[in-house]
Amino acid sequence: MKKADLDWGSMDFSYKQTNARFVANWDNGSWDEGAMTEDANIVINECAGVLQYAQTCFEGLKAYTTVDGRIVVFRPDLNDARLKDSCDRLRIPALPEGMFIKSVEEVVRANAEFVPPYGTGATMYLRPFIFGSGPVIGVKPAPSYQYRLFATPVGPYFKGGAKPITIRVCDYDRAAPHGTGHIKAGLNYAMSLYAIDDAHEAGFAENMYLDAATRTKVEETGGANFLFVTKDGKVVTPKSDTILPSITRRSLMVVAKDILGLEVEEREVYKEELADFAECGLCGTAAVISPVGCVNDHGKEIFFPAGMEDMGPVTRKLYETLTGIQMGTVEGPEGWIHEIKCD
Ligand SMILES: *Cc1c(COP(=O)(O)O)cnc(C)c1O
Repeated sequence: MKKADLDWGSMDFSYKQTNARFVANWDNGSWDEGAMTEDANIVINECAGVLQYAQTCFEGLKAYTTVDGRIVVFRPDLNDARLKDSCDRLRIPALPEGMFIKSVEEVVRANAEFVPPYGTGATMYLRPFIFGSGPVIGVKPAPSYQYRLFATPVGPYFKGGAKPITIRVCDYDRAAPHGTGHIKAGLNYAMSLYAIDDAHEAGFAENMYLDAATRTKVEETGGANFLFVTKDGKVVTPKSDTILPSITRRSLMVVAKDILGLEVEEREVYKEELADFAECGLCGTAAVISPVGCVNDHGKEIFFPAGMEDMGPVTRKLYETLTGIQMGTVEGPEGWIHEIKCD
């Protein structure tokens, strides 16, 4: 496979248009078969459900080149299932069985030259999304929908080492009890933009959101789940109905328990406990784990003992094992790696 002439190592996380994307449309009660298109633009009515009432949800996953040159994606069945849950909550018709995986395979094949070579740290990000394409002015589900999946190569998340970040306890809420925090809806991101810009202006990399009901428990950041490591080496992740169920976090918990033999716990985590943890990381597809060195709670700084220079030892082991599974250097659980034959 001839690769595109790109400087893989210095690319950032931004949209770069690639060859072709998958498109399917739902109208009159059913999805069409879908097809690949070279057209990166969408023409929709001014009154489309997505434009008026934000009826849209999305997914995010990556294609990697393994050490032996295969192109793989990581647990796409979980993205498929989560997209279904998001659609259900937003009154969007679910994709027909098999369409999600088929679209992933077709888009990766059509853009194989943009899947970065092994060892560059770069990956190809895949963005599936569904939106209300037909017009609605009264508040109700749109009469028609479009599903799309495009690909864009992205550079290494950590350029020159994974420096721990400082985050702040946020006074804005991300998700209400019984709301939409558990689905991957565009609306959850629209309303987080003010809070993240505000955090950046104040010198913080991310917001730590608390549970909206009591503001005593740790939830997640705008786009990543928390993992903590206790001083005796137990891996802890917050349990809450208003957290987005990160595939990376769920996979890391399996890696911790079944591969590294660590004790794991999914439970409510109180803000007051933060100072008791040894390590803290943020989990998501983009970075796998991004280490957190310090949480600033309204001026009170909580430094994790792992320090501000490097990932803590348990976080590093988790990171290396999961990225090893993704890159084919570590044997992972059955079914985690989905190979896409591109030749
Ligand atoms: C997508 C997302 C994550 C990370 O999920 P992954 O499946 O690991 O990429 C975490 N939190 C929120 C709010 C998200 O939207």
